[in-house]
Amino acid sequence: MHASFDPELALTQIRREFGEHGGVAPSIERSSTFTVMEPGMVPEIFTGQRAPDRDGCYLYSRHFNPTVDVLDRYLAAMENTEFAVGTASGMSAIACVILQICRAGDHIVSSRTVYGGTHALLQHLLPRHGIATTFVNPGDTAALEAAITPKTRILFAETLSNPTLAVIDIRAWAAIANAHGLTFIVDNTFTPLIISPARHGAHIVVHSMTKYINGASDLVAGSICCSREFGHALYDLQSGCVMLLGPTLDPRAAFDIIQRLPHLPVRMREHGRRAMAIATRLKALGLPVIYTGLPDHPDHDLFMSMANPGYGFGGMLALDCGTAERANTLIGVLQNEVNFGLIAVSLGYFDTLMSVSSSSTSSEIPDDEQKEMNLSPGLLRISVGITGSIESRLEQITTGVKRVFA
Ligand SMILES: *Cc1c(COP(=O)(O)O)cnc(C)c1O
Repeated sequence: MHASFDPELALTQIRREFGEHGGVAPSIERSSTFTVMEPGMVPEIFTGQRAPDRDGCYLYSRHFNPTVDVLDRYLAAMENTEFAVGTASGMSAIACVILQICRAGDHIVSSRTVYGGTHALLQHLLPRHGIATTFVNPGDTAALEAAITPKTRILFAETLSNPTLAVIDIRAWAAIANAHGLTFIVDNTFTPLIISPARHGAHIVVHSMTKYINGASDLVAGSICCSREFGHALYDLQSGCVMLLGPTLDPRAAFDIIQRLPHLPVRMREHGRRAMAIATRLKALGLPVIYTGLPDHPDHDLFMSMANPGYGFGGMLALDCGTAERANTLIGVLQNEVNFGLIAVSLGYFDTLMSVSSSSTSSEIPDDEQKEMNLSPGLLRISVGITGSIESRLEQITTGVKRVFA
């Protein structure tokens, strides 16, 4: 049913954007406002008779900016969606999608294993505005069906969940969403290029471009990959959440991401190759490592059934150190004694980043919920980098874990 899709090919097949003087890099359009050649055109732009993205008549950069528009076209090609909307952060992408769809009284069913910020948005902030969420375990489609009420509008999940690395069955969730007329939103931040959720039935794909897509940990950005109709709804002058709440992506940040997208495929393959080598080593040492590339990961086959061939399994792995104390001792050794990586939240950087999730990026999630989602207090999340030789990295982590697990 799903013909194979190569997002790298899709990225190279869309129209290249040259700079103003024929430069190989696109120009950055920094203007906040644009001259309109004929006075009569202004109302036509306001009433939508002339669309900035279709007719090249730009109005104001919170509405459409030509540089952001270039990035949006690349993201849409990569995720195989009609349209994409760049935003100032991953969180604003998620919040705008939800607020565009839901009103007070509506209900969301979300996977329990989501990013801590998303969990807090759903659990604490949105209920203040009358939007409630029921959380379910990502593998439990019976619980998912049972949680749906007549008020439900959205199903929400992450392709590869943060930080427990559970894989969602996108086709199964999409089938349930379609049967109930719901919008299925997938956060694909951990697996750009590797999995294309829209190919398997996701209606909207969101990204924190802060992570792998930018890859340099030097800016914050997000993207909403969706239908043209939904994208235009987000930009609507009367009711669009991106237009009216205003999480505008800066064209300079958009330019930086545009220049890094062409090597995203190279980076993702290399992150995956190194994560696989490290996971295999930790496994050989008898340690409880979680990596979807390992054949004994419970979701290995499911991951394989959705993955685009040739991109590997991504750069995220986890090691259950049992207790937070031991996890913290280990990251101290790995950073300060053997130079394996850096103690920092976030992911997708070229250097390795390590964090103990339960007390950092998932600390918004209450303890009983953490237990429910199988999040061990000693879970060490590692975003495997692409610097240094694989041999030296394997040696460093082996020395580190032997020192701490001895
Ligand atoms: C970081 C992250 C977000 C939030 O993105 P920001 O760019 O930090 O706003 C959302 N989802 C996932 C899976 C993330 O890792």
